[in-house]
Amino acid sequence: MNPYDYVKKDPYKLYINGEFIVPESGETFDIINPVTNEPFAKAYKAGVKEVEMAIDAARKAFDEGPWGKMSVKERSKLLLKAAQVLDRRKEEFACIETLECGKLYGGCRYFEAEMSVDAFEYFAGKARCLEGKTVPIDDNTVNIVQWYPHGVVGEILPWNGPFMMGCQKISAILAAGNAAIVKPSSWASLSMLLLAEVFEEAGFPKGVINVVTGSGAVIGDALVKSPKVDMVAMTGGTDTGKHIIEASKDTVKEIALELGGKSPNIMFDDVDVDDAVKWARWGFTQNSGQVCVSGTRLIVQRGIYEELIEKLKEECVKQVPGDGFDPKVTLNTLIHKDHAKNVWDYIQKGKDEGARLVCGGEPYTDPELAKGNFVPITLFADVTPDMTIFQEEIFGPVLCITPFDTEEEAIAIANATEYGLAGGVFTKDMKRGLRVAQKIQSGQIYVNSYFSKAMVESAGTGWKQSGLGVAGIQKYMISKTIFIDTEDGSVPMM
Ligand code: NAD
Repeated sequence: MNPYDYVKKDPYKLYINGEFIVPESGETFDIINPVTNEPFAKAYKAGVKEVEMAIDAARKAFDEGPWGKMSVKERSKLLLKAAQVLDRRKEEFACIETLECGKLYGGCRYFEAEMSVDAFEYFAGKARCLEGKTVPIDDNTVNIVQWYPHGVVGEILPWNGPFMMGCQKISAILAAGNAAIVKPSSWASLSMLLLAEVFEEAGFPKGVINVVTGSGAVIGDALVKSPKVDMVAMTGGTDTGKHIIEASKDTVKEIALELGGKSPNIMFDDVDVDDAVKWARWGFTQNSGQVCVSGTRLIVQRGIYEELIEKLKEECVKQVPGDGFDPKVTLNTLIHKDHAKNVWDYIQKGKDEGARLVCGGEPYTDPELAKGNFVPITLFADVTPDMTIFQEEIFGPVLCITPFDTEEEAIAIANATEYGLAGGVFTKDMKRGLRVAQKIQSGQIYVNSYFSKAMVESAGTGWKQSGLGVAGIQKYMISKTIFIDTEDGSVPMM
């Protein structure tokens, strides 16, 4: 089937209180295929009024029911139903995600779509297994710790993995018993607008999930500032996270932030260089480097430094840029021309600040590629911690390579940024591998491979400026500790 056959001719509508609606302004925005920069669909743009409608609908669903009063068994069954509906529509979601984000279709269809269905199934089970605890205090106090949903959660999503990330987060929000307002990025809104149809078909009560699309500064901000929203979770850039911390201060609401990264990938000289090169390349070029946990700082022991750079260059120049639907293509476009411009600015800074350009660094001359936002894989060697490209997240296929001599030096270089999202370590010495993994100041580390399986069982937490809040379903829950006095006079009243 032609992927464009899945695209709706009319603008995609907002989903509020169980209905697909047109906002009062009637305003739309273009959905653009980043491979050609041609618009291929439109979506309606919510204003503050629609955000308020969505908040009221979620409030009602949570406070008055039926959702807020539903048993976990019933909630779990609805999540399983959603998994079945999504499973049937995997091909459509994969095509839409490929068209809108410019990603490789194979990854969307056989990885992201499968993991999205898996998230609903996993959290349907998790909803049935939520437990509190009793804490031994003394012989005349019973203490129970329970977990509750926050209530109404605003979930603000980035553009780099809206489908899989959206499914993982929304299924956790719902399994915990919350109602949600979902705000995708305006560069990648369609998967969440389509997901509303899945919830509708699965039979979720009105108002439990609402999807509003449009400007982050307007409608994201309205969600963050609303006293009727109990929690806001945002995945996106660190600057946006800081803005949200500031904007939420008057309501002191719960905030969870999954932010940017500049993750180190350390390679000791006992590795099989050919194998390490494959992982190094994959670690920073998946989705053209638009992955938060990408290993964008390669820290290489001096004994293999030049050999590894040479082999990595050979591996990088072999990659094939193009349309993600073409099975020969291994390097996709960046999401948007504005984002590509940022990446080019960083490439220029790398050159200006004296890093050694190994390959890439110049635009493609092929006119087909020039229509899109393609950036060639760019390797910079001899990058030092004082350089901008070492410190700042680029979010494109750009790698900074830095040499080291000792284990202590490698750890110091790895920890020399304000980020703490992920990291990798490659060595045949497993004692050293674990030792170094424990010393990297990040919430997710890979040993002798790069990237996790994006599973939901063990989510990473952002350390330092890469995030705020715990990972997993607990992120969307709040605890309560209850003390029951079993004997008169057991609590001192002085
Ligand atoms: P972004 O910060 O530009 O936008 C994220 C979301 O916030 C979007 O929906 C946007 O509309 C919204 N937003 C913007 N301004 C807002 C405001 N004032 N108030 C409320 N919401 C606002 O991020 P992006 O460019 O969409 O995504 C890329 C970034 O996301 C990268 O930094 C990447 O590392 C990060 N990311 C992190 C993780 C993680 O798990 N830590 C995962 C994926 C992406």
